[in-house]
Amino acid sequence: MTVVPGQPDSAAATEREEPPEADGDVLVEGLAVGICGTDHEVVAGAHGGPPPGRRDLVIGHESLGRVRSAPASSGLHAGDLVVGIVRRGDDCECCRAGQWDFCRTGNYVERGIKGADGYGARHWRVPAEFAVRIADGLASTGMLLEPTTVVAKAWEQIDLLRGRVPAPPDPVALITGAGPIGLLAALLAVQRGYDTHVYDRVTDGPKPRLVADLGATYHTGELADLPVAPDAVVEATGVGALVFGLSELTAPNAAICLTGISSGTREVQVGADELNARMVMGNDAVVGSVNANRTHYEQAAAALERADAGWLERLISRRVPLSSWPDALTREPDDVKVVVDLQA
Ligand code: BGC
Repeated sequence: MTVVPGQPDSAAATEREEPPEADGDVLVEGLAVGICGTDHEVVAGAHGGPPPGRRDLVIGHESLGRVRSAPASSGLHAGDLVVGIVRRGDDCECCRAGQWDFCRTGNYVERGIKGADGYGARHWRVPAEFAVRIADGLASTGMLLEPTTVVAKAWEQIDLLRGRVPAPPDPVALITGAGPIGLLAALLAVQRGYDTHVYDRVTDGPKPRLVADLGATYHTGELADLPVAPDAVVEATGVGALVFGLSELTAPNAAICLTGISSGTREVQVGADELNARMVMGNDAVVGSVNANRTHYEQAAAALERADAGWLERLISRRVPLSSWPDALTREPDDVKVVVDLQA
């Protein structure tokens, strides 16, 4: 799955050499990759870019594959289902500590996104420490692991902030945005025991039902009118204007985690002093969160293994064969997660 970022209509299925051994000691047969908003930004040339010295990039960071061969010392075996970690850090303090998701320099690469070929290929290689084994029950949905790592990290940040005070008896979570990140954030909220509410602008299609089937409550309309006072918020729309409204809703001592970005340039009027006063008086905490390290991949694998397999399957609204994969970049009305089938 190659693209020349920024060049219209450049997405194509291309013949490439076998992946070089320098990419890693584990050889994997690619099964599928998921497509997300970041891929759209990479294709448009608005985020990331190809490896140094090249114009084209193998895209795909939400991976799923089966091990073909791995060194005995890796603990991986032929046939194991694996997901490749996205980011490779540099030698800053955080990266050296395995927390490349907190890289201090920005000099990391991300496979399929920034400076390194991705996993949208029938064969890929990865160093064993960047391959995460998952249960065979996730053979058709395991490409949901990577987006789940993003929300596992988000919930970890919220847990840290909420650990400031004793938990209220019936904690309430609000998720803004019912795309794949929002829905997976809601799954983890329900698993953590929150009374979970999801807010989105769409009124029909599969999202309201997916939320209801989690045992969570779906809301549309004006954010300010929501009948909830959340203790924890995961913001997954990337709509900047929405962020300022959140602190009006939250309960005291709330934690808000921002996970989305948008390339928009919309401007809003903000009552800055009022916002400041509200955040101070409410002990509000707002944290941004990006990417994930190995511990989050492990947390995400555990969360997906606990989830209802049929519900996960329903998140995948469309599967596109590799030969016509650019069709996966067209947004269709009832799309939730679109996946490229690398075997078809
Ligand atoms: C990916 C992250 C990545 C981020 C920024 C997201 O779509 O899931 O792994 O760090 O984009 O490139």
